[in-house]
Amino acid sequence: MLPDALRFRSPSPLVDIGANLTHESFDRDMDDVLARAHDANVQALVLTGTDREHIDAAIALAERDSPVALYVTAGVHPHHATQWDTSLAAHVGHALTHPKVVAVGECGLDFNRDFSPRQAQVQAFEAQLELAAASGKPLFLHERDAGHEMLEILKTWRDDIGDAVVHCFTGERKTLYGYLDLDLHIGQTGWLCDERRGHHLREFIKDIPLNRLMVETDCPYLLPRNLPAKLKGRRHEPALLPWIVREIAACRHDDEENVARETTRTAQRFFNLDALSDQQGARTDD
Ligand SMILES: [Zn+2]
Repeated sequence: MLPDALRFRSPSPLVDIGANLTHESFDRDMDDVLARAHDANVQALVLTGTDREHIDAAIALAERDSPVALYVTAGVHPHHATQWDTSLAAHVGHALTHPKVVAVGECGLDFNRDFSPRQAQVQAFEAQLELAAASGKPLFLHERDAGHEMLEILKTWRDDIGDAVVHCFTGERKTLYGYLDLDLHIGQTGWLCDERRGHHLREFIKDIPLNRLMVETDCPYLLPRNLPAKLKGRRHEPALLPWIVREIAACRHDDEENVARETTRTAQRFFNLDALSDQQGARTDD
């Protein structure tokens, strides 16, 4: 359930590039969550695959009938880096051949929580960079408190990989400029609505060109703190994405509709979403 005060339809269609809809908190009301996303004018979701189980669950979900288009990323989160082995590599490699899977990830480095040893994180990350280079798919990257190391690794891989987005960017200005210099894309969540830890982002969010910027909820995590009403259970969901876009637009001194339209255009190009829907049309004609 969303209170009426939180129902807000984006003036222009949106793509939520980071939705963890395979999280158990969505099990009981998935159809309602998808319907509410549709009502909010969120027309496509990219479901985040973070390990073997969640990649498979995301693909199964994306194969269902849905009022919004569903796509999937396939990769292994740095938290699970110690699970990386040849069998998992083959599993991810196979998933990347599925027509709904549009990116490699999420993968990267998390030196904030260090749930896997750093050496294992680097190894799993480089293996996935190799998969991206081989498959030609873009990368969906996770980085927390590891900007310096991430930049060093990406510099050495830059010529081999294609497009890459640093999802839920929370770092400092210098790291952001480093990513933009490498021609990377940036994903923004409701983090910048968080006065406790995210307000530094508001200073430089306008420095990200709209053809490099995409928006995401990272739901069920990171419920924005700028919502005009309390949400029971505090579970974030794709229908709330327009509130994040509104905040981003305000921080950029830009028009909400313009930010919605341009970030959607960026996402469609980045994940090749148009080509994919053509492909699906062809498949159903068979
Ligand atoms: Zn992440």
